[in-house]
Amino acid sequence: MNIIVLVKQVPDTTEMNIDKETGTLIRKGVPTIVNPDDLAGVEAALNLKESHGGKVTVLSMGPPQTASMLKELYARGVDECFLISDRAFAGSDTWATSKILSTAINMLDYDLVIAGRQAIDGDTAQVGPQVAEFLNIPQISYIESIDDYKDNTLFVSKAYETYSVKMKCKLPCLITTLSGLNTPRYMHAKHIFNMDAKEISMLTNEDLKLEKSVIGLKGSPTKVFKTSVKDVQKDTVKLRLSPEEAAQKILDTLQKEDGGQA
Ligand SMILES: Cc1cc2nc3c(=O)[nH]c(=O)nc-3n(C[C@H](O)[C@H](O)[C@H](O)COP(=O)(O)OP(=O)(O)OC[C@H]3O[C@@H](n4cnc5c(N)ncnc54)[C@H](O)[C@@H]3O)c2cc1C
Repeated sequence: MNIIVLVKQVPDTTEMNIDKETGTLIRKGVPTIVNPDDLAGVEAALNLKESHGGKVTVLSMGPPQTASMLKELYARGVDECFLISDRAFAGSDTWATSKILSTAINMLDYDLVIAGRQAIDGDTAQVGPQVAEFLNIPQISYIESIDDYKDNTLFVSKAYETYSVKMKCKLPCLITTLSGLNTPRYMHAKHIFNMDAKEISMLTNEDLKLEKSVIGLKGSPTKVFKTSVKDVQKDTVKLRLSPEEAAQKILDTLQKEDGGQA
């Protein structure tokens, strides 16, 4: 099974601040990580390969620095990594990004495409489904478990808020994964040892040959007019307490709020 996993490098949003004047993310000095839903996709692909054979290819679109993240994925055991990077792609919205990713996918052999459900920075959850549309293949989103694969058919569970649905789909198809799907493996010493020798295949628009009208700002139907930061103001009290004192304080506060009922 040839599996392509779409992986985005994202800022570690737990350490992210927002510029209150401009409303933009302050990225300077913020560490980057593999998008968590995508790491689950990589793990799922490696598990499928181990059970059924095949190849795991990672595709990422981003600036040249993304290469270090891709090296990390080699250390986890993926077979090949492609970095799609070109100044011509700057300013692409989710539509143009999906167009670029699906054009690159079409240049490769694939049976299954795995995308994360959502990127923790952009947060739109649009890219996976849009890529499936551009590829004209079926898709199942919000995968919480991959249950089986036989007769060229994938059996999965799709998560809804309060229930799950078992579904099956013939390959080729695209699935989007949730970070709770599995526990990603650690990097393996053998792969860490070999990762520097592994090449990252670069793709630019010379390879993809996309018209300027469908990429970058020109090819992006989404226009962002304004970004604003919600001013969260709460009456906060900071207390230094032992766990027992903290528990008592919470209980006292709840009882006070609840007129002594809690
Ligand atoms: C007008 C406009 C201009 C923009 N300009 C820029 C810009 O200049 N530079 C910039 O970095 N961003 C830019 N963006 C943001 C960029 O379009 C999004 O980050 C990108 O389309 C992914 O959207 P998302 O983060 O919501 O991903 P989601 O749709 O939430 O991601 C879902 C999944 O899709 C896959 N995926 C998403 N993005 C990638 C990727 N790049 N590579 C591989 N897989 C991916 C991953 O598997 C991910 O888990 C711009 C957005 C707009 C609206």
